[in-house]
Amino acid sequence: MSKVFQATHVGKVRRNNEDSLIVIEPETFVVADGMGGASAGEVASSMLVDAVKNFLTNALAPWDETTLSEAIARANGDIWNLSRQNEDYRGMGTTATILYVDGDKAYFAHVGDSRLYLLRDGIIKQITEDHSYVESLVRRGELTEEEARVHPMKNVLTQAVGAMPEVQIDAASFPVRLNDVFLLCTDGLTNMVDDATIAHILQTSESPADALIDAALDGGGKDNVSVIVVGID
Ligand code: CA
Repeated sequence: MSKVFQATHVGKVRRNNEDSLIVIEPETFVVADGMGGASAGEVASSMLVDAVKNFLTNALAPWDETTLSEAIARANGDIWNLSRQNEDYRGMGTTATILYVDGDKAYFAHVGDSRLYLLRDGIIKQITEDHSYVESLVRRGELTEEEARVHPMKNVLTQAVGAMPEVQIDAASFPVRLNDVFLLCTDGLTNMVDDATIAHILQTSESPADALIDAALDGGGKDNVSVIVVGID
């Protein structure tokens, strides 16, 4: 069983909220951060959550990380096709981070720079790797984490769902323990709030999703912010 908290906020600067999030039975959690001109970002992220929900609803149990990857691949085709057909949607795309918890095992699939974190024994760990240009420089040792945080190209993604006919998807599984806390979030949280503050909120707040949104707004609220918190009990 799990305790689930979720929240999304447009932030203090933007006019539209291009993030989408959804909780799907059983125990499946999705965040998506859309990008593209006009309303295209909103279209891409909402298509992502709808396509994932439709795919999983029709997928035979047991689901695993391959099932989640196939759901993202299906969404990639839907979004890519629409962007080819409609000039207004040309170039749109979205991040996708999916977590599925099944008893003592968790599965995830991921594209882009939204994140999945695990808080275990008081230590917060980022499970997903950002598919961003600056993160690729950090991995090659050409930038430090600190330099990456303020880099002018930090928003440039190396992978996005729907931006190309094929998408590279990270997926894996790992064991779950009692009292683990998972956080799925868009970069509107992680660009405004550091990991230590996020960990503190997850450990102390009675309503952690709202508290994380408040922290992102206090930190500047420059982007849309979305969070899903899942406590395993
Ligand atoms: Ca964002």
